[in-house]
Amino acid sequence: MTLDATGQMQFLYTLRSRGVTDPRVLSAMEKVDRGDFVRGGLFSDRTYEDMPLPISCGQTISQPSVVGIMTQALDVQPRDKVLEVGTGSGYQAAILSHLGRRIYTVDRHRRLAREARRIFEAHDLGNITVITGDGSFGLPDQAPFDKILVTAAAEDPPGPLLAQLRMGGIMIVPVGQSDAVQSLIKVTRTPDGFDYDELRAVRFVPLIEGIAAD
Ligand code: SAH
Repeated sequence: MTLDATGQMQFLYTLRSRGVTDPRVLSAMEKVDRGDFVRGGLFSDRTYEDMPLPISCGQTISQPSVVGIMTQALDVQPRDKVLEVGTGSGYQAAILSHLGRRIYTVDRHRRLAREARRIFEAHDLGNITVITGDGSFGLPDQAPFDKILVTAAAEDPPGPLLAQLRMGGIMIVPVGQSDAVQSLIKVTRTPDGFDYDELRAVRFVPLIEGIAAD
């Protein structure tokens, strides 16, 4: 399923009305068809609605306006090296690939990593590297990162991720208990330490330790 021109306008209008106003973010989101990432067919009539939807491994593809808000807060620049923790469907990483230079995305489910890799290849999104692993430890070999985006809720911003953030870099992370409403936090690394800003309430699946069995 893809959107016609009217549907596309409606999709962008909803994003704008919910606070996604950065033209670069809107243009990146216009280039990525959410329909490519919503698999299974069960919810295909909801593909372009502003709601999270189930994907394999009991996980979710995030709500488009939340993806937009997080991407906007991350302020990705064309030369940025970005780490995403929680590949899920790959939708968020595909959007980042249009904004940054190099995107690394990590998921603890092999199956999700494999499926996302396949979609990125089919769409020639050659600047994304998908890794299976526990993303709460980051990717020490590729660090430091200009930007880090965590798309699963942690109880606190993970220490290894803070350590892998470049000076002046930004990390966006939902923080809070997994079954409650969480706060989306923007962490900025400064010469004096870290600045924390609370952006809004969100609800994400939890960041879980270790690699999954599937
Ligand atoms: N960004 C995704 C949505 C993420 S859902 C999208 O655009 O569709 C959250 C994802 O985080 C799930 O796929 C889950 O498997 C993954 N996850 C949870 N804990 C993790 C961890 N410690 N390391 C890596 N991935 C993790």
